[in-house]
Amino acid sequence: MNPQETWKSAYHQLELQLDRPTFETWLKGAALLSVENGVFVVGVGNSYARDMLQLRLYRTIRRAVSDAAGESVELRFEVCQNLPEPEVEDDMPLFRLLAQQEPTESAEPLHKQIVRPQRPELPESELNPRYTFDRFIAASENEMIFAAALAVAERPAGSYNPFFVYGGVGLGKTHLLQAIAHACKARGLRVIYIPSEAFTNDLVDSIRNRTTAMFRERYRSVDVLLVDDVQFISGKESTQEEFFHTFNSLYTFNKQIVLASDRHPRELVTLEARLRSRFEGGLVMDVQPPTVETRIAILNAWAREKGIVLTRAVTEMVATRAKANVRELEGMFNQVVATAQYTGQTLNMDTALEIVDGYHRPRHHITLAHVLEITARHFGLRSEDLVGPKRTGVINNARQVAMYLARDVTNASLPQIGDAFGGRTHSTVLHSCNKIAADLAVNPAMQTIVKDIRARLIKP
Ligand code: ADP
Ligand code: MG
Repeated sequence: MNPQETWKSAYHQLELQLDRPTFETWLKGAALLSVENGVFVVGVGNSYARDMLQLRLYRTIRRAVSDAAGESVELRFEVCQNLPEPEVEDDMPLFRLLAQQEPTESAEPLHKQIVRPQRPELPESELNPRYTFDRFIAASENEMIFAAALAVAERPAGSYNPFFVYGGVGLGKTHLLQAIAHACKARGLRVIYIPSEAFTNDLVDSIRNRTTAMFRERYRSVDVLLVDDVQFISGKESTQEEFFHTFNSLYTFNKQIVLASDRHPRELVTLEARLRSRFEGGLVMDVQPPTVETRIAILNAWAREKGIVLTRAVTEMVATRAKANVRELEGMFNQVVATAQYTGQTLNMDTALEIVDGYHRPRHHITLAHVLEITARHFGLRSEDLVGPKRTGVINNARQVAMYLARDVTNASLPQIGDAFGGRTHSTVLHSCNKIAADLAVNPAMQTIVKDIRARLIKP
């Protein structure tokens, strides 16, 4: 990637990461002017944007650019009078107004008006851009929970607080939580989505670094807090203690809390009674396994989105076989799609059957070590390179591909994958997966790489 491509990729990543008002007000239209001794010089429309980016968003942007570049880079922001026009005309009255006001001193009051009060920066929450309400298929068995999630997103703390979602693995709990998060962020609300393990890690870090005050401030300053997989805080005393206070504080100030777990609060046996009663105090709802009709509807929606055609017989066959949960359905669907795209033809039943029959067989044999080895070899590297700390372009890229494939072809969880990759965090893994997924959508070269390595991995 040349620097312009790097910038472009980081820019798009930031568009996904930042909440919309922030992105549109400060970053939209920013352009890479030059690279001087490894420092990316970014042009922005006015000095307010420059200061805002430098003071409040530097770390976030630097991380995005570094990720895209495959190495750690530094940034400098400069006011640039004639920035290239952004590609799409947009409605950014605020931004334009600022640009016009720039030369005169009278801009001061407006400047003061729009800079938000100093509030703690939120951890970057890694949301999967695909987990939105419009991609969630709600048939009769999940109509109620879908409607409740929508109501929560529309009126946070106005409908059900807390909103507690529980049910088996792969049934869409994370999807629903993130859909709420996306919807609330789009409206400019302060949102934290966090798996409970990450909450624990964050707490432990803050205790170690003596920054618990900041930790509290951060979690208690949000409008919506979504904690996924809360079953993992069971039995962890200090996490429960801290979470209890966070919960009370948010609840008192009428902020929305959303929780997901693999079981009902009353079955979280090592959960402190006072937390359990808080959890049960709101709306508790379970996600149901989809019926075969729903699974067919989901497959059809996915096929439409990917622009591929599946015959009715093949769709029904896959929907009938993928009984366990939606994640399994997704896994089978992805392999069917990969084959259909590879052959460029509508899939016949024999091939489809072969794929579906083979689906369970190889997954159990594929270990994370195997994924590391095969992926590393494809890039002319060794497993140790991917596990190690180096972040040069090729290694970083190969590592991200390997993480993506690990998630795709093994049953390992994000934290397990992170461990196998030299103790990286679950959010690093998720970030890599999202990055490769985004790249796959637009980049045929990446499609070929992933397809080739996957074929080698799942070969019986
Ligand atoms: P859980 O958190 O309950 O384990 P996820 O939310 O991770 O499950 O869902 C697994 C996969 O299945 C995700 O890719 C998700 O988008 C998809 N999925 C689950 N339920 C649905 C649904 N009703 N409609 C569309 N996709 C779904
Ligand atoms: Mg989940």
